[in-house]
Amino acid sequence: MKNQTTNHDVKETKIITAPLEMSPAVLNSGGLIPAGFGNFLFPGVSNPLATFFPFGIKVKQWVKPNISRDHIIRVTVGLRPHRPSGFVVRSESLGSKTLVHNYGHGGSGWSLSWGTASLVADEVQKTSAKKIAVMGSGINGLTTARLLQRYGYEVVIYTKDMPPNVTSNFAGAGWSPTATLVDEGKYTPEFKKLLTKTARISHRFFQDFIGIERYGVEYQEGYAADDAPPVAHGADYIGSDIEDLVGETEDMAEGTTPFQYKHVTKHWSMRYQVPRYLAAMQDDFRIAGGMVITKEFKRPEDIDALPEMVVVNCMGLGTKEVFNDPELMPIRGQLTHLIPQPELTYRFGVASAGLNFNPRGDALSCGGSTIPNIWDSTPDPHEVDRVIDGLISNVETRFKLS
Ligand SMILES: Cc1cc2nc3c(=O)[nH]c(=O)nc-3n(C[C@H](O)[C@H](O)[C@H](O)COP(=O)(O)OP(=O)(O)OC[C@H]3O[C@@H](n4cnc5c(N)ncnc54)[C@H](O)[C@@H]3O)c2cc1C
Repeated sequence: MKNQTTNHDVKETKIITAPLEMSPAVLNSGGLIPAGFGNFLFPGVSNPLATFFPFGIKVKQWVKPNISRDHIIRVTVGLRPHRPSGFVVRSESLGSKTLVHNYGHGGSGWSLSWGTASLVADEVQKTSAKKIAVMGSGINGLTTARLLQRYGYEVVIYTKDMPPNVTSNFAGAGWSPTATLVDEGKYTPEFKKLLTKTARISHRFFQDFIGIERYGVEYQEGYAADDAPPVAHGADYIGSDIEDLVGETEDMAEGTTPFQYKHVTKHWSMRYQVPRYLAAMQDDFRIAGGMVITKEFKRPEDIDALPEMVVVNCMGLGTKEVFNDPELMPIRGQLTHLIPQPELTYRFGVASAGLNFNPRGDALSCGGSTIPNIWDSTPDPHEVDRVIDGLISNVETRFKLS
């Protein structure tokens, strides 16, 4: 395969004395502080910065993304399970059984997974059951199953498909607790409160995975660049009470990044290494004694045949066929995955153009599409062209990197 965008800058340089925020001049020097620099700043002190920063500190070097058509390794399409009024977690009676729903997470299913699982656990604890059935094995089925196991329940998963053949495997995926979750004007103030609670619970659960290699929950630096000013949220923005969980956004002055746009902002956010996390969750489920049974549900009556008296529905968009929720609809998203580029450590997006790249362990994922009400999950070659050509053009003309 030929790489059309070679000539990377150097990766990250480990140095012994430097503050985290470097001036552009120092950044461009490759992170090396010229001899005597410390003395110039602090006469009489032999190595003053080492006093303040005694450990080796990594200084960022800008790496050019390898976006090229011949780096494409796969194209995936996922249908986000969207409901204009938001996700559903509630219990109902189904004959002699208790059915607890947990579906409709839109583009926020990863982010909210521990939070909605926790709401489910509250419902399950109202029953006297010890053995629980979970329908579905995407991020929400697995997380719900794991949380119930942690609470001491015996859990069986019934599912049509396992990862990687689930929508959850086709996500971006990062902390985005409001992405394509609700439609403006369609949700209630009560739902906003519920979302706030749910997102906070979920965020806290994820904190305990950070630093454990096998899950791949990480913080990553991201840049939003555009010539159009950032879109301000309206007064009733659904996420206004959880903005602190997203992390502070920093306006980047001209010359502090290589990105040549009128507006550039930086923020840190939580990201998930998708295949690694899903595999670890499945392992955890089995290690804790969980059983997975392949089964496709067609109608609510199919649930009668299960031996468990409490059943949790985590079938995502599959809920539409079985329970006929009129609100539930797909929002299609396509990702074009390129050969992984481990030295690239920042995400980047141009929102007005619907373009972004996201470096992960399994790929450099490129995308940006959200198309409502399309049930077709066949990859669209025109969308591949739009994303790859668009990103190449941005990198070649707007990134000051050789
Ligand atoms: C391109 C894209 C990017 C995304 N980015 C993000 C992001 O950055 N952050 C974020 O938080 N979220 C993101 N999402 C959203 C997230 O992926 C979804 O919200 C999440 O995957 C929904 O998970 P789920 O477990 O509810 O459903 P699914 O993953 O669809 O799992 C459903 C499970 O139910 C089973 N099932 C379905 N029907 C039946 C049936 N009839 N009988 C038996 N079993 C059945 C399936 O086999 C599967 O195991 C993104 C989604 C897409 C498509």
